[in-house]
Amino acid sequence: MLDKVRGGLFGVAVGDALGATFEFMTREEILSRHGSKREMVGGGWLGLKPGEVTDDTEMTLCVARGIIASPQDPVEEIGRQFMSWYQTDPKDVGSTIRTALGAYTETGDWEKARAITWERHGGKVAGNGCLMRTLPFSFVYFQSPDLLGKFSRETAFLTHPDPLAAEACHFYNVLAVGLLLGEEPWSAFKKARSLLQHEELARRLDSWPSLAVQDLRPTGYVVDSLEAALWCFFNGENIIEAIESAVNLGGDADTVAAICGGLAGTYWGWSALPDGWKSRLLIKEELEQLAAALLQASGQVS
Ligand SMILES: [Mg+2]
Repeated sequence: MLDKVRGGLFGVAVGDALGATFEFMTREEILSRHGSKREMVGGGWLGLKPGEVTDDTEMTLCVARGIIASPQDPVEEIGRQFMSWYQTDPKDVGSTIRTALGAYTETGDWEKARAITWERHGGKVAGNGCLMRTLPFSFVYFQSPDLLGKFSRETAFLTHPDPLAAEACHFYNVLAVGLLLGEEPWSAFKKARSLLQHEELARRLDSWPSLAVQDLRPTGYVVDSLEAALWCFFNGENIIEAIESAVNLGGDADTVAAICGGLAGTYWGWSALPDGWKSRLLIKEELEQLAAALLQASGQVS
């Protein structure tokens, strides 16, 4: 199981570090100028070092640390972790999260921060920033479906006050639990799908298998990102193909590839990831420590 938990965290980080190089490019530009094979070279609009990760992984680590500090009741601690991260002035912060954490800085109150976020974004707050960081819940609450749903939804809601965003995170975490416990991907997908209430999410999760790669939309909208990440995971013959196809979509490439990489890494495991990717990650030791600590925390949840 440790191999899968490590694989999940490394999968997020690898997808993020590879995808950040191509964020905001189109699939056609990437394939025609750079081919389809990916190495961890950094660069991109953020000018990253090879193996450097961005907000997607950094916020995933905040969630992991919050859970490890307080597995019975992690959400407040996760909020504190988000704020300490935000105060380090990260290279990249998504727009919804910047508003939410900025509003919390002003008010010191998540409820008020939510109202401000909703208002400033005209109600369009179902961004993918809640989904990119939600994987660690699956590694601690895999035997407690109620807590998995509660904590993944409440954490999404800290920064993304839209039931659709919360449900997308819950869905993803249930799917990842299935993969963690050795279920076949389609059977895990069906189980997670059966929990959905939100009409648009349900409709899109029923229709994506018939899409062609050119139809995918790697935008910052949580449903688009989830759809694209699922497509790449389910159509990938192996972990390399799954992650490369997500990176090569371009657009919000680091986030879509992090979301896909989390699933692919949980399913195929850390040992299936190429050395050339995982050894380059600048935070690999921390990822290893947190993977072990998450599994330990899973023993403290009743
Ligand atoms: Mg990013």
